[in-house]
Amino acid sequence: YAPLAEIDPEVQNIIDKETWRQFSGLELIASENLTSRATMEANGSILTNKYSEGLPGARYYGGNEWVDELEVLCRKRALEAFHLDPSKWGVNVQPYSGSTANFAALTALIQPQDRLMGLGLPDGGHLTHGYYTAKKKMTASSIYFQSFPYGLDPSTQLIDYKGLANQAKIFKPRLIICGASAYPRDWDYAALRAVADENDAFLMADIAHTSGLVAAGELADPFGYCDVVTTTTHKTLRGPRAGLIFFRKDSAKAKDLEKRVNDAVFPACQGGPHNNTIAGIATALLQATQPTWKAYVKQVIANARTLGEELVARGYKLQTNGTDNHLVLWDLRPLGLTGSKLEKLCDFVGITINKNAVSGDASAQVPGGIRLGTSALTSRDLRESDIKLVAEFLHRAVQIALVLQKEAGSKLLKDFVRVATTPEEGKVGHQQVKDLGKE
Ligand code: PLP
Repeated sequence: YAPLAEIDPEVQNIIDKETWRQFSGLELIASENLTSRATMEANGSILTNKYSEGLPGARYYGGNEWVDELEVLCRKRALEAFHLDPSKWGVNVQPYSGSTANFAALTALIQPQDRLMGLGLPDGGHLTHGYYTAKKKMTASSIYFQSFPYGLDPSTQLIDYKGLANQAKIFKPRLIICGASAYPRDWDYAALRAVADENDAFLMADIAHTSGLVAAGELADPFGYCDVVTTTTHKTLRGPRAGLIFFRKDSAKAKDLEKRVNDAVFPACQGGPHNNTIAGIATALLQATQPTWKAYVKQVIANARTLGEELVARGYKLQTNGTDNHLVLWDLRPLGLTGSKLEKLCDFVGITINKNAVSGDASAQVPGGIRLGTSALTSRDLRESDIKLVAEFLHRAVQIALVLQKEAGSKLLKDFVRVATTPEEGKVGHQQVKDLGKE
């Protein structure tokens, strides 16, 4: 029972450095959040010791009395968090991550080599929604299924529902996936259901990014229209890293979704559930049902709107000119900067962001934009006035990036490389960056 710092100071030291990075800088990655101490305690608990293949009441191992109680509690909280009637919806809380949740959902809904359609990756979709390139099928969702992407209307940068309906008439998918990793607007689930019904297809929503907002009732509700809804638990939902699969018990298309989903998770795609993670999910879901949750989510959205408005006020271009949710997509192409350059520069100055494709990019491999999200900073209680300052820091970073781009190899570049490599230098670095920003 000796503590980590005593048994393994090397790992402890890495954790200390990462803790410093997370809390000394500005975390703007839209898929990340800062989970609560309570959730981390549950996630780091002795529940990690237990094997429990199977489902509550039907396990392949003994000793699962308390684990059964935990999984039943977690399921109950998951249904409560999304305001679902347990006679109409069920949930599997065992997926290890969003990607495995999605692959298990595909396994449950369709047969190998059946056809599916998902939002294309360059338009904001996720790898697990059927992504492939002209050269390679590199995701399981395109290797084991035939996939075809739908996209955005280039004039509005919104989902092209008409285009999807036309493509679906030709492609005849068995499954339509909606949901995205980088789409700043809400979804029209009724329109998607209509396309699915026209083609006798299942409709699945992957709300990995927006599930916290959906739970708070701040975005359209996919549950009224979809057969299956998947989500990660660690993004806007602020839980540990894992996934959930909700299935409709009264789907008009299949009455046996409960069995199909449960069998697809185990034994088709996974082994023993990570019970410590399920405990963390349960705690996070409890927090998402508290009255404070709605206030948190409203602030996430208000912060994202403010961030967008502040960038637009400084002359920058955003995809769809703004946002309905927790993220903004910043189009850097008019500046002649790539997303990766700004991402690297921001790393030096303690602002964590990620490069992202923007609509119209020639290749998802050289993204012309940046995705920014406000979930983590809102978890640190930043408000609109703070976010205005964050926008100003980003603006200065762009100005510096433009100078560096012109004068690569200059003294300025060396200064940046020196910054933020260790906690001590990083602290000094922040002052240097402020000074350089003034220059
Ligand atoms: N689905 C969407 C929409 C995502 O954005 C992501 C991750 O970013 C995933 C699924 C995959 O989640 P994970 O990284 O937990 O496998």
